[in-house]
Amino acid sequence: MEFLQPGSWREALEARAAYPGAKPIWGGTDVMVELNFDRERPPYLLDLTRVLELKEWWTEDRRLRVGAGVTYARAIEELEDRLPGLAIASRTVGSPQIRNRGTIGGNLGSSSPAGDALPPLYASDAEVEVASTGGTRRVPVAAFITGPKKNVLREDELIAAFHIPEAEGPQQYSKVGPRNAMVIAVCCLGLTLHPERRKVGICVGSAGPTPFRAIEAEQFIEGVLVEEDLWESYGSIDERALARFGTLVGEATNPIDDIRGSAAYRAHAVGVLARRAFSWAWDEYRGGS
Ligand SMILES: Cc1cc2nc3c(=O)[nH]c(=O)nc-3n(C[C@H](O)[C@H](O)[C@H](O)COP(=O)(O)OP(=O)(O)OC[C@H]3O[C@@H](n4cnc5c(N)ncnc54)[C@H](O)[C@@H]3O)c2cc1C
Repeated sequence: MEFLQPGSWREALEARAAYPGAKPIWGGTDVMVELNFDRERPPYLLDLTRVLELKEWWTEDRRLRVGAGVTYARAIEELEDRLPGLAIASRTVGSPQIRNRGTIGGNLGSSSPAGDALPPLYASDAEVEVASTGGTRRVPVAAFITGPKKNVLREDELIAAFHIPEAEGPQQYSKVGPRNAMVIAVCCLGLTLHPERRKVGICVGSAGPTPFRAIEAEQFIEGVLVEEDLWESYGSIDERALARFGTLVGEATNPIDDIRGSAAYRAHAVGVLARRAFSWAWDEYRGGS
């Protein structure tokens, strides 16, 4: 296997075009597992860690552009105030070693339904910026991931960054696993409150072939908040409405039975996560935490 190590973004795109089948690698926390278990044997590895452009993030008009090479550790340290949901999700990833090496670009590249960085991106309508020597395009994250470990990235393209609005209100992330660390989600959920737009974003992970938005539940809870003037009054939410909200999120799932949990357990647990995450975020909005 040949090892390609471009020193700039332009060189990386040229190498991607010149060496079909080259496997991009950043932290290697997914790629090396595949190689070590002999599940994949690409002719070339395209190491991106010398491409400094991929490590950058910046903000413009309250929108962030975050380079594909930003690690979980940096998301926690540098982005917590702007993207609290992503920071909470990042804290649940692996161990300190994995958070130091693993990147959000790599989580997008792997496109696992259990990827912890993905629900916060879906819940805030993030877009993935992909590029080739021919140009750049931006794809909504929900259109970028097309199935379990499948995405629309072409053979000559690389992930450059993702674009996401800065949080305009509380955000939450919650995950079920058999222990507190080094755990792939049995199911997980990201939730975003958008007080200025009176909107709520909810994305469920590990309970369907891809992460997905729970649209009916979003519309239900948005209706309750508006009809009862709760955004303005900072009022508390009725327990029955909260229970109905959890049921709707559970009903939106399309999980499988596997070694980590049954489909029925996942649908139930997602409903519990939804109620909890909403309560935490709403309490924070009301100034209660
Ligand atoms: C012990 C352990 C624990 C883990 N725990 C978790 C966890 O709790 N939650 C979780 O979500 N994941 C977990 N993972 C999986 C992994 O850490 C994450 O998916 C991580 O985000 C991968 O990032 P990376 O930079 O290491 O990607 P890599 O392994 O380098 O790459 C992953 C994929 O993305 C592609 N890729 C990377 N960068 C680019 C780019 N710029 N353009 C195009 N393609 C690209 C690669 O070709 C590959 O297909 C764990 C892994 C291990 C080994």
